[in-house]
Amino acid sequence: METPARLIVDLGRLDGGRTSHEEGLLDQALLELDDLEQLRPAGPLAYCLDAELLPGGELLVRGTLTLRCDCVCSRCGGDFAADFGVDDYCETFEVQGLETLDLTDSVRESIILALPSYPLCKEDCKGVCLRCGQDLNAGPCACGREGRESPWAALDALTPEA
Ligand SMILES: [Zn+2]
Ligand SMILES: [Zn+2]
Repeated sequence: METPARLIVDLGRLDGGRTSHEEGLLDQALLELDDLEQLRPAGPLAYCLDAELLPGGELLVRGTLTLRCDCVCSRCGGDFAADFGVDDYCETFEVQGLETLDLTDSVRESIILALPSYPLCKEDCKGVCLRCGQDLNAGPCACGREGRESPWAALDALTPEA
C-alpha cells in the first residue's frame, strides 16, 4: 500500500460525533526537504493524534509526530541516523461547516520546526581538526595542542594529559 501524502480527518466520522484517533504514516515527500544536504528523511512521517470537537465548533488536535532522518554531522561530517519529533503537537482548527479537515500543512510546519539546522551526531561532538582533518572524537591530533584551529579545541584542554 502506498503511504498517503496527505493527512485528512473525516469530520463526518468522528466517534460519537466528537472525537477521533488518527494514527499512521505520511509520505516523507510532502516535507519537501530534498535540498537539505545534512538531513534527509529516512522513512515516512509517523503521527499519532487525538482530535476532539469543542463546543464552539473548533477541532482540537493533540499528539505526537516522529520522523527518522539520515543526517550528516555539522561538526565531524559523520553520518548518523536520528529520530526527530514533536511530543506536544497541539492545534485548534475552525471546522464549522466543513466535512473534512486537511492537517497536512500544519503537521509539515510543525515537524520542520523540530528539525535541527545543524545536526550533531552527539551533543558534545568535537568535530574534526581544521588543519589535519583528524576526527577529534577519536582523540586529539598531533597539532591539536597548540592551536585555535578548532572552536572545540578548548574541550581538549579540559582533559588531563595522559
Ligand atoms: Zn559529529
Ligand atoms: Zn590536527
